[in-house]
Amino acid sequence: MTFVGVEGRRVRISVPTRFMRDWIESQYAERLVSLWTLEASSVEGVDVFVTGDEAEDNDALPAASPAALRETEAQNNISAPLDPRFTFENFIVGKPNELAFAAARRVAEAETAPYNPLFLYSGVGLGKTHLMHAIAWHIRQTRPEKRAVYLSAEKFMYQFIRALRFRDTVAFKEQFRSVDVLMIDDVQFIAGKDSTQEEFFHTFNALVDQNRQIVISADKSPNDLEGMEERMKSRLGWGLVADIHPTTYELRYGILQAKADELKIDIPPKILEFLAHKITSNVRELEGALNRIVAYANLVGRPITLETTQDVLHDVLRANDRKVTIEEIQKRVAEHFNIRLSEMYSSRRARAVARPRQIAMYLAKQLTARSLPEIGRKFGGRDHTTVMHAVRKVEELKATDNGFSEDVELLRRMLEV
Ligand code: ADP
Ligand code: MG
Repeated sequence: MTFVGVEGRRVRISVPTRFMRDWIESQYAERLVSLWTLEASSVEGVDVFVTGDEAEDNDALPAASPAALRETEAQNNISAPLDPRFTFENFIVGKPNELAFAAARRVAEAETAPYNPLFLYSGVGLGKTHLMHAIAWHIRQTRPEKRAVYLSAEKFMYQFIRALRFRDTVAFKEQFRSVDVLMIDDVQFIAGKDSTQEEFFHTFNALVDQNRQIVISADKSPNDLEGMEERMKSRLGWGLVADIHPTTYELRYGILQAKADELKIDIPPKILEFLAHKITSNVRELEGALNRIVAYANLVGRPITLETTQDVLHDVLRANDRKVTIEEIQKRVAEHFNIRLSEMYSSRRARAVARPRQIAMYLAKQLTARSLPEIGRKFGGRDHTTVMHAVRKVEELKATDNGFSEDVELLRRMLEV
């Protein structure tokens, strides 16, 4: 509310929407007047008007008749546009997202709602929107007579407020209540917005009563949504709650490979490995990184190497950096050479295990701030001279054996802080 001035015996206040004007007039007018008379006894009334309405009379706002509004709404599909890439076929399935994927598929294929609602949640960039679009695509392709509507909670709220403003919530309600599958993305957005939540709740119940499918996404589980009414939280948890976990290395690698195939670009597996190891935040960032490298290679016309990758992505890589531990080094090196992690602490001296162990010691020296005795202790209680010997040996081999040097470099880059 903005105080505009006092004219005669009346206070003028402006607000941005008609809805607010009506609300203030009906709920607070008396209180405003009585508070004003305490400050200035000459004040007799308060006038609230909508900013931007030139006319003194606010009803000059181009008001749409309910019928006209219904018509425009019918023309403008309430569903947001769908991204053509967000299909089930383009979704790479791995441990972290297999439940969410299977549930989304089931919903897309089912004749009657198998679980209501399907509630998907995860951190950003892990595939919630992708799966929701995929459901809508699938339904549009296989059962075009069904109405599948996808929209963000933000847009839902916007449309609701607009309907209130035009005093036509009937059309608003109708358009949602004739939907077969309603998908609302990022509902955390309407947490704390009470009137929208209320309307959402009614729409939700009406659809569920008619056995229509609802799919919801959020950044948290229903219980953890702050600013959400208790009855709403419990309603949201009634169906199937499926969370998408942070990506694993395997999933990231798979996504990169699929994406490189899609772009029809040959990227050395070593680069994909490197990216999958380093960019762990989320899939959106991973895709962004790949796009950047591809764009760079295209523009500069040079093959993609580890060096250019590191150069081009230095900012992203730094953001994804974390402190590496000796345990991680041991694990990564063991994986790389396909030996058991326990060989890092064992006393076996066979070259097949001794060499990787030496490399791990070398990397521990290079990449952590640990002293030689500390490193020795972490490798099955070895003496610091053993570690020193390992470091020298690895340096020597790096200088003489190209293949070896590359292996160590790759490992170092993957682990590097
Ligand atoms: P969210 O809605 O959870 O924030 P999005 O669905 O927008 O995440 O996903 C971000 C990007 O990552 C999109 O381009 C999406 O296609 C892609 N993506 C996420 N998960 C996968 C996956 N499993 N397979 C392929 N692409 C994925
Ligand atoms: Mg999203």
